[in-house]
Amino acid sequence: MDRTDCLAADGADPLAGSRARFALPEGVLYLDGNSLGALQPAVASRLRQLIEHEWGTGLIRSWNDAGWAELPARVARRLAPIVGADADEVAVTDSTSTNLFKALAAARALRPDRDVLLTDDANFPTDLYVARGLADLVGDLQVRVVPGAELLEHLDDRVAVLSLTHVDYRTGRTHDPVTTTAAAHEAGAVTVWDLSHSAGALDVDLHAWDADLAIGCTYKYLNGGPGSPGYLYVARRWHQDATNPIAGWFGHARPFDFEPDYVPATGAARFLNGTAPVLSMAALETALEVWEGVARADVAAKCASLTSTFIAAVDATCGDHVEVVTPRDPARRGAQVSLRHPHAHALTRALMARGVIGDHRPPDLVRFGFSPLYVRHVEVWDAALHLAELLTTGAWDRPEFHARRTVP
Ligand SMILES: *Cc1c(COP(=O)(O)O)cnc(C)c1O
Repeated sequence: MDRTDCLAADGADPLAGSRARFALPEGVLYLDGNSLGALQPAVASRLRQLIEHEWGTGLIRSWNDAGWAELPARVARRLAPIVGADADEVAVTDSTSTNLFKALAAARALRPDRDVLLTDDANFPTDLYVARGLADLVGDLQVRVVPGAELLEHLDDRVAVLSLTHVDYRTGRTHDPVTTTAAAHEAGAVTVWDLSHSAGALDVDLHAWDADLAIGCTYKYLNGGPGSPGYLYVARRWHQDATNPIAGWFGHARPFDFEPDYVPATGAARFLNGTAPVLSMAALETALEVWEGVARADVAAKCASLTSTFIAAVDATCGDHVEVVTPRDPARRGAQVSLRHPHAHALTRALMARGVIGDHRPPDLVRFGFSPLYVRHVEVWDAALHLAELLTTGAWDRPEFHARRTVP
């Protein structure tokens, strides 16, 4: 494999057209779309129009005249096919962390006779904090954190909820959602999947997984913009019984009747709480237009191809300066590749100085994300060559690259 093969792969890419809808700065190889997706100029135009006309001129009238009231439902309709769900199974709202709290509480309430929430020790920190916070609040729930490889052994008849992130944010390794969900159901547990690192990158098919509840993030592979709202999925079979622990007026069946008693909306809409963040919701709505007509299988195939290209290029050029910690089997990884290096932070900064944007995860990983709608094979190749040059010359080892910053 060489640079010419990469150009050929880009020429044959069924997703090539989507790249033109993104605005990436000159001279940047952006491999951090798994942390913050790139901007589409259409999103900037939409926000300008919303702020100046709908808010500035329309004022309160825009809730009706500009369709703000229906925004969350419209965005849910756009998002649902990306995760293999029906529109009324998805609520777009709140942060991922808040949605996780609501989903875990709802799942636990579906199994009131059980007292364990099971998760793995590689889970994302917020997922662990939220689980423990819920356990402290409800009292009769304990959080059992075990190594991923031992999960199934711990699925006993005390487990109410199995809470897992599909793609490990550090290493990129995936849990097998189908067999894991089946094992949880066999044991009588309810599953909550965190899709933050997989929706928009892998073939996430919640119906095929037989998933119960799921949550995820829209500012990574879904390119909604910094802090754009998260989402929560509730399988149809739980629509009657799953309850939102934060019963707010937007989750009411008739919010604008201003009734004193709470009557939950049908479907996932009952997991809405308060007034939607209209600016970021509108940005997300426009950002999701690019997914129209995009097949999840093409997205997953491109991710496998981009990550394989990067691993091959690193193997060919970086010698034993770094260790690939991401699984080499494309079926077992997400759209990212993580490399171990004792000075991962300095190496990440040195790459950034050359316009290669990845990120660092402590203590010793450099992480690269390959967002399928806008990353090209040839960029992956060039990024690996920059990395090889830094490693083989030692040019990463300069004082300015060792200085720490707040956000890694
Ligand atoms: C990015 C990410 C989140 C983000 O949560 P926020 O509430 O949006 O900050 C949560 N979980 C996982 C697994 C993530 O990757």
